[in-house]
Amino acid sequence: MADALAAPLLRWFAEHGRHDLPWQTPATPYRVWVSEIMLQQTQVSTVIPYFERFMAAFPTLADLAMAPLDAVLSHWAGLGYYARAHRLHACADIVLRQYGGEFPATLAKLIALPGIGRSTAGAIRALGQGADGVILDGNVRRVLARYHALPLDARSSPAEKLLWGWAHEHTPHDRAGAYAQAIMDLGATLCKPYQPECPRCPLKEDCQAYRRADVTAYPRKRIRQERAIRQRQALLIHDAQGRIWLQRRPNRGLWAGLFSWPECEAAEQDLRAWLEHHALAPATLEKAGSLQHDFTHYRLHLQLWTLAAPTFVAEKPGIWYAYGAEKPALPAPVERYLEESWSPTCPLW
Ligand code: SF4
Repeated sequence: MADALAAPLLRWFAEHGRHDLPWQTPATPYRVWVSEIMLQQTQVSTVIPYFERFMAAFPTLADLAMAPLDAVLSHWAGLGYYARAHRLHACADIVLRQYGGEFPATLAKLIALPGIGRSTAGAIRALGQGADGVILDGNVRRVLARYHALPLDARSSPAEKLLWGWAHEHTPHDRAGAYAQAIMDLGATLCKPYQPECPRCPLKEDCQAYRRADVTAYPRKRIRQERAIRQRQALLIHDAQGRIWLQRRPNRGLWAGLFSWPECEAAEQDLRAWLEHHALAPATLEKAGSLQHDFTHYRLHLQLWTLAAPTFVAEKPGIWYAYGAEKPALPAPVERYLEESWSPTCPLW
């Protein structure tokens, strides 16, 4: 018997679904995988130009695996969540070495690869390999939570179990690819987080949240805690030629592997002592504004300082970056600051 959710959804998809996304033609496992990783936490419209540039630079999995990490990071710069790019590169390397460049065919082997969770593995199978695969990304979670009026915090473990159960139950296993794309499209175009377009929805007859006229109460969320604030001092160290020092960040943690200004955790009043301790003369230290950037769990507040240090000898790897030179891979807020606030006519430089 046809599933009460899948049948009307697939009929709607044939006419209204998105059939021209760049990763759909051709929908190879490699292209589906890259798009899935890029789409985590990022909107389709933002991803499309990144995806196209990425595919032009790394048309095959082997090209990606053999590319230097810096080249991959610089094609990722601006998309955020850089750990994804690190894992993408590591995963391509494993698929090339262990599987001859082809993604393995079983769910268990896919999930064992870096950066591939259960839903991404399901998408690779359903959309890229033409196999049976079940997905549960953010859009699908929202549709299912509303359709079933999920009475729990959608991020809790019991909710996770229920959602995966429903995801399996509704997937028609002989049309898993079309269904996966259809339910993602419904979530992206009609069952949107705000102002869902229920009157046009093919699921409205059976949707429990709609029947209760309480759609936006689902998915239920934890009460959000106020974001913690982390203060840091950022140093724009410049040399006699006006270049600034950008240090390569460690390969783990925030902005892993990207280039950024040196930072210290010392409070503003302790900064001069910190500089002296690091053999940097604070005589030319000047405030250069501030910026803040929100992460999922905290807000980073950076106080920026310029510091003339013509004899600065770096202890860590990095580069002297000149205004207008080709940019290394930079975190988005650093890039934005340099583009908007750094100019060769600025007296500080
Ligand atoms: S009826 Fe509304 S809430 Fe229910 S699935 Fe459709 S768009 Fe989402």
